[in-house]
Amino acid sequence: MAILEIKHYPEPILRAEARIVPKVTATVRKLLDEMVQTMRAAEGVGLAAPQVGVSKRVIVVDVGEGLIELINPKIEKKEGSETAMEGCLSIPQYLGEVERAASVTVIGLNREGEEVRIAATGLLARALQHEIDHLNGILFIDRATVIYEKKPGQPEDGQIGEGEAPTKPSASETGGRDDSTGS
Ligand SMILES: [Zn+2]
Repeated sequence: MAILEIKHYPEPILRAEARIVPKVTATVRKLLDEMVQTMRAAEGVGLAAPQVGVSKRVIVVDVGEGLIELINPKIEKKEGSETAMEGCLSIPQYLGEVERAASVTVIGLNREGEEVRIAATGLLARALQHEIDHLNGILFIDRATVIYEKKPGQPEDGQIGEGEAPTKPSASETGGRDDSTGS
């Protein structure tokens, strides 16, 4: 097993549609193991295969409610909406406010190749939506209504110090880096 290299925006693989996994083989299980190890080493709550340079529909999520490993995940049902701050291991210097469904039901295959169905709310629902977006080449910066640049010394987990308003990057600071152009 190995810790894999996390690809950073704007690596093209992050914009590609990941391929369906036709069969859950030993290779896919090894990928899952390495993705879990990589997510834990990076102290992330989720990781999608394109983030480690593998164009396959495979995600891992652990928001502290137990590890979820899914192959070919699909959102079956969405309800409500909720806006919260989000970050991404592939875009480490930014955070954004993103509106997501408040609860989702996701279906996919587990590492045994069996179909599983997961009903999720809160952070787990958000993480699943974020990771499934990765499989379609969508990043949180595409959905964010506000994007914040992390200041050096700010905690990595995206927690912003109480009473300390994040500074919105000014147009000059972000000049030439307007993510919405998708270039
Ligand atoms: Zn991400």
